[in-house]
This record gives sequence, structure tokens and C-alpha cells, in this order.
Amino acid sequence: MGQMMSQPLLVSSIIRHADRYFGGNEIVSRRAEGDIHRYTYRDCHERARQMANAIEALGVKIGDRVATLAWNGYRHLELYYAISGSGAVMHTINPRLHPEQIVYIANHAEDQLLFFDLTFLPLVEAVASQCKTVKGFVMMCDREHMPQASMVTNLLCYEELIAAASDRYEWPLFDENSASSLCYTSGTTGNPKGALYSHRSTVLHSYASAMRDGLDVSARDVVMPVVPMFHVNAWGLPYSAPMTGAKLVLPGAALDGKSLYELFEQEGVTFAAGVPIIWLGLLTHLGQNNLQFSTFKRTVIGGAACPPAMMKTFRHQYGVDVVHGWGMTEMSPLGTTATLQNHHLSLPDAEQEAILEKQGNVIFGVDMKIVGNDGKELPWDGRTFGDLLVKGPWIVSGYFKDEGGDVLEDGWFPTGDVATISPDGYMRITDRSKDVIKSGGEWIGTIELENIAMAHPAVAQAVCIGVAHPKWDERPLLVVVPKPGADVSKEELIRFYNGKIAKWWTPDDVAFVESLPIGATGKVLKNRVREQFRSFNLPAA
Ligand code: ADP
Repeated sequence: MGQMMSQPLLVSSIIRHADRYFGGNEIVSRRAEGDIHRYTYRDCHERARQMANAIEALGVKIGDRVATLAWNGYRHLELYYAISGSGAVMHTINPRLHPEQIVYIANHAEDQLLFFDLTFLPLVEAVASQCKTVKGFVMMCDREHMPQASMVTNLLCYEELIAAASDRYEWPLFDENSASSLCYTSGTTGNPKGALYSHRSTVLHSYASAMRDGLDVSARDVVMPVVPMFHVNAWGLPYSAPMTGAKLVLPGAALDGKSLYELFEQEGVTFAAGVPIIWLGLLTHLGQNNLQFSTFKRTVIGGAACPPAMMKTFRHQYGVDVVHGWGMTEMSPLGTTATLQNHHLSLPDAEQEAILEKQGNVIFGVDMKIVGNDGKELPWDGRTFGDLLVKGPWIVSGYFKDEGGDVLEDGWFPTGDVATISPDGYMRITDRSKDVIKSGGEWIGTIELENIAMAHPAVAQAVCIGVAHPKWDERPLLVVVPKPGADVSKEELIRFYNGKIAKWWTPDDVAFVESLPIGATGKVLKNRVREQFRSFNLPAA
């Protein structure tokens, strides 16, 4: 046996480390109260210890789930450490879900306490009486901002809990495989299912995701997770930023282009992460006001395919490098990132860009393969596509309370995505298997069709869906949100595909809409679009 110290990998060690070695580094938050709050990792650690005492005094025990309905902010960060660090399970609930789903999730998780930002008081008032296991609802503000009267019984004030609690608290040591946090998948079909992360998986994911070819987070960075802390733990940034000593900027509820840009500039943000739709708003704001970034250098975009046109705009107009990332709630979430290797650096720009547009290479810890219908592994030739399976120490082995039964296939987790892998290991998602268009017995991947449409200057957003066809089963219909004031015809958009794609992949028709339905994690709800156009009549071929 080796003779190294045996020390469990625990979430509490991250905030302790940030306090001890980066104690003076800042955490800046835009608060629901409307102002900007700033303090340091040392302050955060102190208040997390106070909150750990407070929740224990409220009866929370090791393994109990404690829920939050909150934006990205310092109090939410304190809870990340107070709850997981004390051995309870941090359960982040997505407040954008339908109230019925929130009730389902809180009851399924058997949450003991529910912390919420003051903007969510009406939501909590609507659901509180149905959350059967919750013993206390804690509003994340001071006494001044508490309502005079409320229908919520057991309504508590966050700052009063902190003020009454001692900061003398020793983070307990326990098995690193204990549960640390819980995040439910968005449940576009069926009930949401819980991914239950462990301390070990969280710490390992933080190390791996901070690496240069991962999110590349360091003490020289000013990091803004625009991706919410209720969306797979903001892709691990609330852990990897304190682990590396990066300054953290937490944008709260103000995710519009103008508010984000102001915060980027005021705080000198160098790195940010988010889903494509958020950046659409930011880029529109920049374009309309003729603005440039002064410090922003790099962004990770994922959660949905990042249109190559968006990457080009960031890179060429604003000098911001885009790292395309892929992952899922069940993967903590990071699986792959698209970055270049030394031997790519001499390639012409267009070839480098083609590599960067893929979903990328795995970060160490994750293994992937593609398989056909018979479950046999398919070749890595960059052309053959199949179901994508993954394994690794931060990937679920099953869902909370065994919902959905055995999910693994021979030790691998089926992602539900369809992908190709190139000979040098770069993965490209062609589609989610449920979104693939099946035309004349062949598959058409919708992501590529959407990416092409979004490169047209008149197109703000585009999705491609399969519509029933008497001869071919399904044919592609392109649904487009035009840019404000843009004038473009169906014929022109269809012509735009010429030479870019196999002819039989070209959409049969185009429908224009004012907006697309967006789900709780900022992705287009394709099943809604399919429903909307279910009886759409495609032109006769
Ligand atoms: P998250 O929203 O955090 O990514 P979800 O579990 O809600 O987690 O969704 C995961 C799914 O999102 C993936 O299985 C994949 O279909 C899609 N996805 C995530 N990142 C990308 C990406 N870069 N390109 C294409 N699809 C992506």
C-alpha cells in the first residue's frame, strides 16, 4: 500500500482553502434588493459556518435535504457550503419550473428547509402549504425586507439566523462518498429525476473542470457564472472558483444584456459561462450600442449547441474566445470541451474553427463511446453516428430513490444524445435521439440544419423539427425567429442551404414565428414546437 495520508475529499475543504489562501479575494453579487454587495472568501467562510450552526439548530441532520430557490448570489454560495459542509444535502430547485413540478420535487426529495430569494416570495406562498416535509421557509434577506404579513407559516429571516449563530464551527469529517447535493433533471418528458452528487464526485469534478482544457479557471481570473446555481451547480463554478482563488461575480436575477454588460465592465470579468440564449441577449445589446468588452477574454458556452455564427461573432468582433462545452445534469455536468492541441496550431483558421465548433474532447475522468442499435461500439471516423454513452466518477450510477430503475448499460450511462467521434477523439453531437428527423429510413441531424440557418444574417434563432410526411415519414421544417426589422423570404433561406449540406437534408419549408418556447434551463422546447406544427402541411414534393 502507498503511504500517503488518507483524507476524504469533502466540499467543506474548498471554502476552508479559499479562506486560508485566498481570504481577501472578492465575491461580488448583484442582490435581489437591487444593490451590489461585495465581500471576501474569508467573510463567506465565516457566514457559512454561522449558517451551518443555524441549520443544525433548526434540526437539520446529516443526509437531510435542504432546498433553495435562489439566483446566483453570495447567500446562495454560503448555503452551498453550510449545507453540504455540515453533511446535509444541498438541493437546488429551478425556480423557473412550473409550481406543480416544484412541489413534486420538494416532496420527492423530502426537503426539510427551503431557502428562497425575496423575488420568489409569491412562488413560495403559492407552493408552501403543499410542500409536506418542509419545516421552515427561510427568506434570504434582512428583517427590513421581510413581509409584514405572509400566508407562509414558519417564515424565517436569513440574516436573523446568521446574526444569532456563532461562527465557531468545525466542519465534520465523514465518508467522501456521502451525498453532497441534489439536482433534478428538467423533466421535459415524465417526472423530473434527481442526480445525487457526492462530496468525492464534486471535488474531483472541480479539479478536472478547472484544468486548462476544461473551464481554465485560475486565481488570475474574474469569473462570472451566468449559468444559474440551480442549473447543475452553475457547472461547478461555485466550487472551482474558490478552489482556485478566482474572484467571483454573481449576477443575481438581472440576466439581460445591459445589466450583464455593466457588471462585466465594472468588475473586470475575464471569464463567464452560460447557455447560448443568454449570450444572444448580450451580443444584441453590444451590437445595438456599439460597445466592446475591456477585460472579457473567454467564455464557455454549453447546455445546448452553440451556433458557430455566435462563436465567430464573439471571436472576430469582440476578441472573446469561445470554448464549446458539453455535459448534462447526470454528469455534474462537464464531459467534453472543444480546445485545440499543439499540432492544430499550424492549421488554417477555418480548420481550427471547425474543430472548435464540435462539442470536443473528454476531460480526464470521463470516457465515452458511440454504439449502434445492437449496442456494439461504432468507429471513430468522424462520420458514423450512434448513441453516446459515458462513464466516470462524476457521472450518475442511478437516480435518487432509484427512480427509473437501472439506468446503466453494461456500466455505461446512455446520454440520449447522438454523436460522431473523430479519429483524434473529438465528439460532435448531431442531435438528441428524440429530436432526430427520420426521413425515408435515414436520419437527419437537426443541429447542423439549425447552425446553418443561424449563420444567415436575418436569422436570430432557428429550430428544425420533423413533420409527418406521407412518403418519407418525416421531413424537416425550419422554424425561424427573424432578427428585428429583417426581411427574408422562405425561398432565400432554403437556397442558403445550397452546397452546405446533402440536398436531401435541406428543409422542405420554413415557418416564421415571433419567439420560441424556452424551457427552465434556457433551451428551446422542441417538443412544444413539434406540437405547434404537428398538422403543418409541407409543400408537395
Ligand atoms: P444541462 O442543461 O446542464 O446541459 P441537461 O441534463 O438539462 O443538462 O441537458 C443535457 C443535454 O443538453 C445533453 O444531453 C445535450 O442534449 C444537451 N447539450 C448540452 N450541451 C450541449 C452542447 N454543447 N451541444 C449540444 N447539445 C448540448
